[in-house]
Amino acid sequence: MLCTRTTTQLVRPSMASTLVAPRSAVAAGLSAYRRGLATAAEPYDVAVIGGGPGGYVAAIKAAQLGYKTVCIEKRGALGGTCLNVGCIPSKAMLNNSHIYHQTKHDLANRGIDVSDVKLNLPKMLAAKNASVTGLTSGIESYLFKKHKIDYVKGTAKFSSPTQLNVALTEGGETMLEAKNVIIATGSEVTPFPGIEIDEKQIVSSTGALDLQEVPKKMIVIGGGVIGLELGSVWSRLGAEVQVVEYMGAIGAGMDSEIAKNFQKILTKQGLKFKVNTKVIGAEKKDGKVFLNVESAKGGKAETLDADVVLVAIGRRPVTKNLGLEDIGVEMDNKGRIVIDDQFNTSIKGIKCIGDATFGPMLAHKAEEEGIAAVEILKTGHGHVNYDAIPSVVYTHPEVAWVGKNEEELKAAGVKFKVGKFPFSANSRAKTNQDSEGIVKFITEKDTDQILGVHIIGPNAGEMIGEAVLAVEYGASAEDIGRTCHAHPTLSEAFKEAAMAAYDEPIHM
Ligand SMILES: Cc1cc2nc3c(=O)[nH]c(=O)nc-3n(C[C@H](O)[C@H](O)[C@H](O)COP(=O)(O)OP(=O)(O)OC[C@H]3O[C@@H](n4cnc5c(N)ncnc54)[C@H](O)[C@@H]3O)c2cc1C
Repeated sequence: MLCTRTTTQLVRPSMASTLVAPRSAVAAGLSAYRRGLATAAEPYDVAVIGGGPGGYVAAIKAAQLGYKTVCIEKRGALGGTCLNVGCIPSKAMLNNSHIYHQTKHDLANRGIDVSDVKLNLPKMLAAKNASVTGLTSGIESYLFKKHKIDYVKGTAKFSSPTQLNVALTEGGETMLEAKNVIIATGSEVTPFPGIEIDEKQIVSSTGALDLQEVPKKMIVIGGGVIGLELGSVWSRLGAEVQVVEYMGAIGAGMDSEIAKNFQKILTKQGLKFKVNTKVIGAEKKDGKVFLNVESAKGGKAETLDADVVLVAIGRRPVTKNLGLEDIGVEMDNKGRIVIDDQFNTSIKGIKCIGDATFGPMLAHKAEEEGIAAVEILKTGHGHVNYDAIPSVVYTHPEVAWVGKNEEELKAAGVKFKVGKFPFSANSRAKTNQDSEGIVKFITEKDTDQILGVHIIGPNAGEMIGEAVLAVEYGASAEDIGRTCHAHPTLSEAFKEAAMAAYDEPIHM
């Protein structure tokens, strides 16, 4: 239950005299609910810190299971990184930049003549912002209201394992008490040591989603998913984009055959790559950024210049200033909260999910964990299959995978078979004039069980759903190969790659 505690200097005279809380006090961030002292009241069953995909989904599930639930979020909007500065705005920019680029460079090949195609960047950014506000406000005004979840706008900190002090966004503070707390504080951009992000010339993904003009030249530090997606956006809109990557290949975690294929395709699209290259530092001069780099293997240094540098070297958990050390919640050396297989932290009654703990930093992983953590609370049972979490890069073509790649299986000494099918042999992809890429199945040699599926191609991000289901149910390649897939669809390439793993495909 909510109890408020505001310091005298924070109480505005007109409000100090109003001791009765209006019904909308919680939704209004408690700004109108001013009392001098905390009151004893019934605690919440579940308090969720963080309103990202992990936190807001956990709050909804908790309410659905009958728990009296509160969610505390500091950014002023629900949806977390994903909806505000991550998945959703990046996909808006990826989709619309693709349409622009296709209209400009590809429609004529399809018998559609359009002239005078121009970019209206302010409108494209406004469309992105509209998608964000539409979705974030929907959680607050529809989903949270429907499930009667209390939403407190402010920054939470543990005072004890069952008490949270919240510095309210609109001023003042409040104390919440809860029998169970779920930490879902997510992640933030990992800074590059010595390179200061100003979100104008040297930007993180957040700044790169809101550049007010197309840079002539952009350097992306880091060839991971976020760097490649945002590099693609600005390349399509007209920037000359160069990706600098420390490792020898792009697409961290990707099957290496797919990664090589991907780099070739992106290079054909105009992106430049400098792999095995270490960034040393950056200097801003005469409106440009000069980036000092050298070979990762030592030696040869050089200076690259750009109008905008995007730092995309990864994300780190948000676990500071939460009072975790004071109450004894264990963290590892990367700042991740240590949990057991039921999402319990080292302190009873406190669970952690999403980017703030182990595992891939993905919105759908956070959501799955949010649901499982609450179900475990209620019933003692909950389930996340970490072998069946898909990854998607939303470039064009898309890249998507689930399960193990060849390198991981070789390292683990597992005997496997590979079946591949190219989109260039798929009737729908050819008809759509969009046939770059392949589907690749990796199966256990003796049993034919699917161990991994790796796709680069049109709509790979949608197609991977079938592979996830197959992995979840322990299917064999033959199960897929003998399942009827509609014609003409891209999914026939999926079926034929499965056939290639245990027998032979038809159209190759
Ligand atoms: C550019 C970009 C693109 C991405 N694209 C994808 C994608 O396509 N697909 C995908 O699956 N993932 C994507 N991600 C990753 C995805 O956004 C995260 O994995 C996901 O948001 C993690 O969810 P979460 O709930 O754990 O944390 P978050 O979404 O980070 O939410 C945590 C919330 O907690 C709040 N918070 C933190 N501390 C406190 C506190 N003390 N008190 C109150 N509130 C607090 C924060 O303000 C934040 O809103 C992308 C990320 C970026 C940056």
